[in-house]
Amino acid sequence: MQVGILADSHDQLERTQRAIGLLQASGAQALIHCGDLATPEIVKACSVLPFYFVFGNHDADSVPYLLQAAEESGATCLKWGGIVELAGKRIGVAHGHLTSDLKRVLSATPDYLLTGHSHFSVDSLEDGVRRINPGALYRASIFTVALLDVVTGQLQFLTVPR
Ligand SMILES: [Zn+2]
Repeated sequence: MQVGILADSHDQLERTQRAIGLLQASGAQALIHCGDLATPEIVKACSVLPFYFVFGNHDADSVPYLLQAAEESGATCLKWGGIVELAGKRIGVAHGHLTSDLKRVLSATPDYLLTGHSHFSVDSLEDGVRRINPGALYRASIFTVALLDVVTGQLQFLTVPR
């Protein structure tokens, strides 16, 4: 099962829509956003597929609006971090700005830990957990998202046109 991973949209709606189009064309069957969406419009845009997201530090002032958008769009909000189970795999998601959130998600022993926040793409293995940051859609030299086959672990970073 192919999952599209996005992070750090920072209200860049058109670029986020281009990223979603790219992920859909590449076979994504669900989308996970690792935080800093910044506006409810991003929740709505991502809800063209089954959609899961966490809050980032730049979402703190928008929490009620993001929750309302999730309810209206049928999206799943994991608040400040949580686990999504897809195709038998446990996918931990947290924005990554707070160690306490990361520790809480890691304590649930996920197969993957997806984060954002740094605006750099990452694919690493730490303490037996595959850590993936798709990169950002704002304030980065190249804008990237990631496509993960959660069963095989195959990962691709996709460049989003500026
Ligand atoms: Zn950010």
